[in-house]
Amino acid sequence: MPRRLTQQQSRRIAARQDDALRDTYDDNTNTQQGLVIARYGRKILVEDEAGQRHSCHQRANLPALVAGDEVRWITEYTGGGVVVARNPRRSVLQRPDARGQLRPVAANIDLMLVVIAPQPEPHANLIDRYLVAAAHENIDVALILNKADLLDHNPKVSALAESYRDLGYPVICTGRDDPEAAAIRFVAECRTLVLVGQSGVGKSSLIQRLLPQQDIRIGELSEAADKGRHTTTAAELFHLPGGGRLIDSPGIREFHLHHMPADGVAQGFSEFLPYLGRCRFRDCRHREDAGCALREAVDKGNISPSRFASYLAIVDSLEPAL
Ligand code: GDP
Ligand code: ZN
Repeated sequence: MPRRLTQQQSRRIAARQDDALRDTYDDNTNTQQGLVIARYGRKILVEDEAGQRHSCHQRANLPALVAGDEVRWITEYTGGGVVVARNPRRSVLQRPDARGQLRPVAANIDLMLVVIAPQPEPHANLIDRYLVAAAHENIDVALILNKADLLDHNPKVSALAESYRDLGYPVICTGRDDPEAAAIRFVAECRTLVLVGQSGVGKSSLIQRLLPQQDIRIGELSEAADKGRHTTTAAELFHLPGGGRLIDSPGIREFHLHHMPADGVAQGFSEFLPYLGRCRFRDCRHREDAGCALREAVDKGNISPSRFASYLAIVDSLEPAL
C-alpha cells in the first residue's frame, strides 16, 4: 500500500528540498541580488534587480534585516523566496526598542537630511546630535531649511543655517512654494536618504512633495505612530521619481542619538577634528583639564562657544555605551 504523506510530512520534505537548494547555492553563484524594501514581522519584502517585489523569509542564521539592506536571495519551490545572505552594510541607523535594546531600523543610508524651519524654533543642539549620529555612521548630511515662506518671521533661523553652511554642510532652502523640491531631488541623485528633524518642521509635507504617488501610505504610517499603536512601525524604502531612494518611518523621522562613546561625539564636530589628539593629556575630558587643545581653540575663536557648549551637553546627556 503506497504510503500517504500527511500535510506536515510533505511540508517537511519541501522544506528539506529548500534546504538542499540553499546549500547548493551557498557559493552564491545562483543567488540573486535583492534590496530589502521593508520588513513586516517575519516577512521581508525584497525587490529584485528588475524592480519586481517578492515576499521572502530569511534564513534563521541571518541577523535582522531592515529596509535598505542589500541581500542575496533565491526563489523557493513553495513560492516566494528566501534570503540567504546579507551584503555588508555601508551604514545603519539604530533605535532602542521597548526594552532598551538597540535595533537596526534602516541600512545603507548615504545622506541624512536634517530638517529645520522658522517654526517651531530650531534647537542647535538637536541639529548637532544628528550631525554626530551621521558622522558616526559615515552618512553625509544636508540641512533642509523648510517653510521658507516663514523666514521673515524668524531671521535668526537663516543665520543659524548659515553657521552650518560655514562649517561645510550643504543648506537647502525649500517649502510649500517649491512643490518639486528640485534641489533635494538634485542631491538625492542615486543615493539613499532619510529625513529627520523635530516634530512640526514639515517633514511629512516635504515627503509628500518628494513622493506625490505615495501620500496615502505615508499618511497611514504617521497616523499609526500618532496613535501609538505601533511603536515599531516598519521603515519602508521608496524610490524617488527621478532617482534616489528615501527610507521612511515615523521612528526614523524622530530619530535621535542614543548611545555613543564620548570620543565618538567629538568626531561628529567637524571643526574639532584638527584639534583632537592634541590635548596635553590623552584622556582629556575637555573641561577643566590643563592644556586642552579644544578649549584653546575656543579661546582663539577657532571653535564657536555655542558649538563647544553643545558638544558638552551631548556628552552629558548620553547614556553610557552598552
Ligand atoms: P512634521 O511633524 O515634521 O512631519 O511636520 P508636518 O509635515 O506635519 O507639518 C507641520 C505643520 O507645518 C503643518 O501644519 C503643515 O501644514 C505646516 N507646513 C508644512 N510645510 C510648510 C511650509 O512650507 N510653509 C508653511 N507655512 N507651513 C508648512
Ligand atoms: Zn581637551
